Amino acid sequence: MDRYSFITNKKPREIVLLKGFPCIWGKCTFCDYILDNSTSEEEINEVNFKVLKNITGKYKVLEVINSGSCFELPIKTLERIKDVIKEKGIETLFLESHWCYKNKVKDMREYFEIPIIFKIGVESFDYKFRNEFLNKNAKFKTIKELKEHFDSPCIMVGIKGQSKDQIDNDINIVLNNFNHATINVFVENSSNLKRDEELINWFKEKYVFLDDDSRVEVLYNNTDFGVGD
Ligand code: SF4
Repeated sequence: MDRYSFITNKKPREIVLLKGFPCIWGKCTFCDYILDNSTSEEEINEVNFKVLKNITGKYKVLEVINSGSCFELPIKTLERIKDVIKEKGIETLFLESHWCYKNKVKDMREYFEIPIIFKIGVESFDYKFRNEFLNKNAKFKTIKELKEHFDSPCIMVGIKGQSKDQIDNDINIVLNNFNHATINVFVENSSNLKRDEELINWFKEKYVFLDDDSRVEVLYNNTDFGVGD
């Protein structure tokens, strides 16, 4: 498992995949990343401290992800991240959280004392598809509501059961409302959901221009950021 990497295009930054406590929700139908979660605070901190040692600050931007939300990182890990931010001159931080922690996002922004680009797994702006089919439990109703807490949505593309209209609508919303977003092309895992190759080929052709849009990062494989396995 690679836990440290750096991204050189669009928004250059270092990225670490840390270990966290179990995802508070843990029931999204497409997810098996939570297998990386642990209940041992000692084990989590040991792994995370080692990974955080890799950070050099070369881009002054750091992204911290874990298989869940940043609120599931132990306090000692958060403190170590804060130390690294100061030591290495990090000026911008990317973090991610589930919708259910929306009321704590502000506290996290204050804690780190530097600008944070807060990502959220939206997966789709289609309420029914998101909450029933994907079982995301992210029950915001409007984009305005989402933007009150979060900066950057992560969208999923290419699941059997998803339609072209849904994807068109999602990309349209992203391009018209956000300065940063991630599009994840679905890669089959141990969940029951299947990849729709025809839909993915259509997406790749129609939205090839996103590769040149600095606001949108398209991940064709879930290891495209260089972390994970
Ligand atoms: S919130 Fe994220 S980590 Fe938790 S189950 Fe859903 S996709 Fe997986």
